[in-house]
This record gives sequence, structure tokens and C-alpha cells, in this order.
Amino acid sequence: MTALLWLRRDLRLFDQAALHHALTSGKQVVCVFIFDSTILAPLPRRDRRVAFIWHSLKQIKQELNRHGSDLIVRHGDPQQLIPELALHYQASAIYTNHDIEPQAIQRDGKIAQRLAKLGIPLHDFKDQTIFEKDDILTQSGTMYQVFTPYKRAWLARLNEPLLASYPIQPHLNQLKPLPMEAMPELTGLGFENIDVANLQPGMDGGEILFNDFCQRIEQYHLSRDFPGIKGVSYLSVHLRFGSVSIRELVRTALQIGGPGAECWLSELIWREFYQQLLWHRPELVSHTFKTHYDELPFPNNRDYFSAWCAGHTGFPIVDAAMRQLNQTGFMHNRLRMIAASFLVKDLLVDWRWGEQYFAHHLNDFDLASNNGGWQWAASTGCDAQPYFRIFNPVTQSQRFDPQGEFIRRYCPELAHLPDKAIHAPWLCDIHCHYPAPLVDHAQQRQAALALFKQGID
Ligand SMILES: Cc1cc2nc3c(=O)[nH]c(=O)nc-3n(C[C@H](O)[C@H](O)[C@H](O)COP(=O)(O)OP(=O)(O)OC[C@H]3O[C@@H](n4cnc5c(N)ncnc54)[C@H](O)[C@@H]3O)c2cc1C
Repeated sequence: MTALLWLRRDLRLFDQAALHHALTSGKQVVCVFIFDSTILAPLPRRDRRVAFIWHSLKQIKQELNRHGSDLIVRHGDPQQLIPELALHYQASAIYTNHDIEPQAIQRDGKIAQRLAKLGIPLHDFKDQTIFEKDDILTQSGTMYQVFTPYKRAWLARLNEPLLASYPIQPHLNQLKPLPMEAMPELTGLGFENIDVANLQPGMDGGEILFNDFCQRIEQYHLSRDFPGIKGVSYLSVHLRFGSVSIRELVRTALQIGGPGAECWLSELIWREFYQQLLWHRPELVSHTFKTHYDELPFPNNRDYFSAWCAGHTGFPIVDAAMRQLNQTGFMHNRLRMIAASFLVKDLLVDWRWGEQYFAHHLNDFDLASNNGGWQWAASTGCDAQPYFRIFNPVTQSQRFDPQGEFIRRYCPELAHLPDKAIHAPWLCDIHCHYPAPLVDHAQQRQAALALFKQGID
């Protein structure tokens, strides 16, 4: 008897829930991945995420080949391909891990129906979070809407079985022996073959980054807010595609302990907070959590938006952040907050425009975290920043990039400025080829307050 293991956002061959269950089911396991044409079609032809996935799959394929099996990679619509592959391999069951995004839930529901008609069950498992869906509810049985009590409940419910890893290695003899197939090239999928070695894709890359971060995790609470220094873990893209195991990360953070590791654990809990939020409230994909802010009349000046996207607003910290995103696909968390707040509350552009821009450009784009982060910054979200709390981009810059180390890296035209001038170059008369500030922060602050007051609380 054969089982199909359908990989999606769980690209690893260790501590993997669905793979473990498939391998221990007594069936011979065929691993498959589908480049979903409905997801790929609208993406730019130069997409780092697709290249990251491709390289991660290559590692998995090589590992499976070492065990006499293979990874079957296809390009098309999973609704058609999964039942087809199930029939082709005469699979008696499909194993996969949960994906809580609304479109994925719909897709999986349809596939489960089609498979049911063929008499093939779809078994799915929790894998990418410690807690999910309605695992953690308030005493009255509703979802948590405030992070701190959610975190408290999360920590209180944590136990060893939840963190235990799913063994894979001892069961690899259950992989179905298969002849090696060629994997479709990136160009064959319609994408450019871009170099993503700097992102360190795959299980190997995730392990290297995590080991490296463990050397500095004890300082995390002190260094995490400063984009000019290497303080954070850079693991988000691996968490997104599952090339690291959340159970291993949490276990290690708990073992290390201390304020740095505790603070980092909190960030992992924020990730789960936003995942449960999206699962409970799928309408957040296009609506505000605070419904009275759903139709705020943002002026949406297109020139302002273009300048923000290009990193030409005249506010160095915002421009450096946006250039980092455009050049590398990464943006530091402090900068995501500053750039998002600036778009919404200084340029008065609807947060959904910024959310979309981030979705196209972030390597680690994750619907739940991106939507949560934007709604937090825009004050429209669950446990969000209050509307009257408006970041001043200059003081944020002075505080979190005091010597302009980060700004100098991404705005080389400002590199010669002294530390004091780099946060607001318009205040000094040194000549440089850099745009004048697009807006006056104090004026825009007032305009933002007036705008938000139009949302009836
Ligand atoms: C406007 C905005 C948009 C964002 N969009 C995304 C996104 O699309 N994908 C994404 O993974 N994160 C997003 N974040 C959260 C956060 O900025 C990134 O997770 C973090 O910068 C990634 O870097 P890191 O892996 O080095 O993080 P670390 O500081 O090392 O944190 C470890 C992990 O915790 C999680 N995490 C950290 N901060 C947050 C947070 N505020 N919310 C949710 N999870 C968090 C991430 O999985 C991260 O990898 C967004 C934040 C904001 C303000």
C-alpha cells in the first residue's frame, strides 16, 4: 500500500508531523510537491521566494535519492494533480500539514472532496505552530483579542508532548523506492534563475542560521531593535516555508532561557497569535479588525505611494528600509513598523496598499503576520497601536540607528553626512543628491488624527 506525502509549507525531512504519520502508517511513502500555477501565475518572473523553494526542494530531493526514493515535483493545479497522482501511485491515503490561509483551506476542502469520491482519505496535521486554530481560547470559549493574555495562556498550556519532535530518520526505510526523475528547472516554470545563496535556502540553510543565532540569542532583547547590527535571527523565511522546525526552535529557546531567549520566544508567540487570528477571522484578508475603520477616506496620493515604494520620500530611515526591501527582500522588524506607520499616518495611504507591496516583495511574506503587522501599525487591527500613537520618523531614526549605520548602507548618497545630520538632512545645508522631504511630519500628524477621528469608535 502507498501513501502520498504532499509537501507545502513544511519543506524539511526532520521533525515533520505529516511525514512522520505517513512513514509510520505501514504504507510506502511517495513525497510530492506541486508548484501551484494559481499561486505562481501573478508573481514577477524574478521572484526570490520561488527560487528559495526550488533550492529547498533540491535538497529534499537529494536526500530522498540517497534513500533510494525521489521527490515528485509537478507544476499545475493541485486540485487536479493531487487526485491524479494519488491514482497514478495507487495511493490509499494522502498526508499533509495544515495551512490556515483562507484560500488554502478552500483548496484543501475541494481536494478532500475529490479524494473522498475516489475513496482516498486526506489526513492533515498541525505542524507549523505549537498551538493553532482554537487550541487556545479564553474561559468563555472565544479567541483571544489581546496578545499578553494570549501569551500567558500559551505558556501555561505548553508541555513536553507538544514540543516533542516527530522522528523521521528511523522510518526512512518506508519511503517507496522510485527511479530518479528530473526536477523542472526554474526557467521551465517561467522564472528567472536568480542566485539566492545569500538567503541560505533549505534545511541546511535553516540549521546554519539557527546555530549562528544561538550564539547571540542571549543579547536578543538588547539588540533586536537596531537594524544596523546583527541582532535578529533572520529565520522568518525558513519559518514561512518550514525548513526549520518550530518545535526545535521553541525547545532550544526554553533550554537557553534568560531575557534574550524569552524575548525571542515572545516573537514566535506573536506569529501564532496572528495565525489564530486569521483562522478565526478570515475576512481580515481585506477588512479591518476594528470595523469602524474599514472605510476611512484615505486620500491615497499615488505619487506619495510611488515615492514610498521606491525609497524616495526624503526621510532617510524610511527610504533605507524600503531600499533594503527592494534590494534584498528582507526588512528589519523595527523598520517594518516605521515604514508602515509612515505610509499610513504621514502619507495617508490606505494600509492595504502597503500590505500588498510587502506581500509582493518580502521573502518571508506570510499572510497572517503581514496582515497582522500592517493592521497593528495602521491602528485598525487586533491589539493594535492606538490611532493617536504616531511614530516620528526622525526620532525613531535617532533612537534605533543613532550613528546612521543602517541608513549609510542603503542611502549611500547620505554616507558622508555627520551622525547628527543623517536623520533629517534637510535641516543642514550640506549638499547631497537626496530628495527633499515629501511631507511635513507635524502637519501630517494632525491630518492623520483628523482622518482617524472619522472612524466612529
Ligand atoms: C508591517 C509588518 C509586516 C510584517 N510582515 C511579515 C511577514 O509577511 N512575514 C513574517 O514572517 N513576519 C512579518 N512581520 C513580522 C516581523 O517583522 C518579521 O517576522 C521579522 O522581522 C523577521 O525577521 P527575523 O526572522 O529575524 O525575526 P526575529 O526577530 O528573529 O523573530 C523570530 C521570528 O518570530 C516571528 N516574528 C517576529 N516578530 C513578529 C511579529 N511582529 N509578528 C509575527 N511574527 C513575528 C517571525 O516568524 C520571526 O522569524 C511583519 C511586521 C510588520 C510590522
